[in-house]
Amino acid sequence: MPHSTHAAQDALKQARQSADWAGLRYSHETTRRHEVRNDRPEKNESTLDEGVMCEVLVDGHFAYAATADVSATGLKRAFERAIASSRTTSGHKAHSFSLSARPQAQGQYQSPYQKKLDDTTLTEITDCLLAASRAMQVCDLVVNRSASATTIQTRIDYFSSNGSDTCQSFDMVEIELAATAAQGLQAQSRSWSHTGQFGGEAFQCQTFAAQAQRIASEALELLAAPNCPSGRMDLILLPDQMMLQIHESIGHPLELDRILGDERNYAGWSFVKPADFGSLQYGSALMNITFDPTKSGSLASYAFDDGGNPARREFLIEKGVLKRGLGSLESQQRSGLAGVANFRSASWNRAPIDRMANINLEAGTSTLQALIGGVESGILMSTNRSWSIDDYRNKFQFGCERGQLIKDGQLTQVVRNPNYRGVTVDFWNQLGGVGREVSTYGTRFCGKGEPNQVIRVGHSSPACLFREVEVFGGQS
Ligand SMILES: [Zn+2]
Repeated sequence: MPHSTHAAQDALKQARQSADWAGLRYSHETTRRHEVRNDRPEKNESTLDEGVMCEVLVDGHFAYAATADVSATGLKRAFERAIASSRTTSGHKAHSFSLSARPQAQGQYQSPYQKKLDDTTLTEITDCLLAASRAMQVCDLVVNRSASATTIQTRIDYFSSNGSDTCQSFDMVEIELAATAAQGLQAQSRSWSHTGQFGGEAFQCQTFAAQAQRIASEALELLAAPNCPSGRMDLILLPDQMMLQIHESIGHPLELDRILGDERNYAGWSFVKPADFGSLQYGSALMNITFDPTKSGSLASYAFDDGGNPARREFLIEKGVLKRGLGSLESQQRSGLAGVANFRSASWNRAPIDRMANINLEAGTSTLQALIGGVESGILMSTNRSWSIDDYRNKFQFGCERGQLIKDGQLTQVVRNPNYRGVTVDFWNQLGGVGREVSTYGTRFCGKGEPNQVIRVGHSSPACLFREVEVFGGQS
């Protein structure tokens, strides 16, 4: 760490002479990206991002200034800008805040790992990706075989004038495999991903090769499959599509800053109203949704959010009833609603806002076999391919990579270009079965805020059954 705790404390002390409170968040992030395509390494790149966000509270108003100059002079200058900015803008503040929005936080966090990520060599990573790429070569019709790995190592140190002192270190890995089969005008793709907080143990060459071979074979199978039929039928979604369903139709609409109107100009509003908390039957009684940054190994696991609020697992929706929003201490104070520790920034040069972290659908009691067995006429869909949802996060239409019809409790014909559509609350109230085996997925690319902030989120879910959903085929 280039600036010592001592230098940080000095800068805070100095800032405190003109501010009611001062905070400093130092961030150091190394991202490495490796890509292999059709058995050839195409990219090995490394990015370093480092800087400090200085924050002050003056007359009930928070203001920020970021700097990549982490020297004592750099910190001093940033605090002066934050203080000046606060004085200029405090006359227009949306709310008068107190120190309670920045609780004292002390502690450490380290991502779980079995093998240090730093001990994994470029050769090991490349060999793994090459093995996956080669395993996809099941037929000449598989025209594109890609394998990529991204590793991200982040350290965030946070200090404040009211005694906060936290250090959090994150090791993240994302593996993505994709195979495209093509013939004539038809092309079909299948993909697989493995994303979370892991160490070098994430690089399992044999697992990658097995998954690679499976997706390539499935892409070929889809090429010869008929188009998905249209009609109302029961729908089973596997966890790699549930992830998106949760993200778009639960996560985003429950963000309190969105409900307060902050995001309306950019990413849209929400159909959820403040009065809905505590009473809205968001889904069937089988629906239990938690906010859980304490879940080990997910992409957005942490001990404290960027305002020093300690992470806790909370039910957002319990037995289908909406309980709590995705709102930080600031949004909780503005709205008077219960929230969570989700004040998160995408980088050192961004102010934290209300984000998802790990938003999970809790396990039910059914095996996947039992879910399928309970369907007379329906379809099972896996892996998201496309999505569209309105500004209010209400009406949506999602497409998946693969569909398989279900007849009298048995999986039958594989179909291509499967899609379904629905209206958020109606759809979740059609939830008729929840699997007992949970899988965890995540994305690095949840976008929000002006200026834009792209952040990492995790979603765990079992397979779920929805009754009588509108299903339709895409273009064949
Ligand atoms: Zn998002």
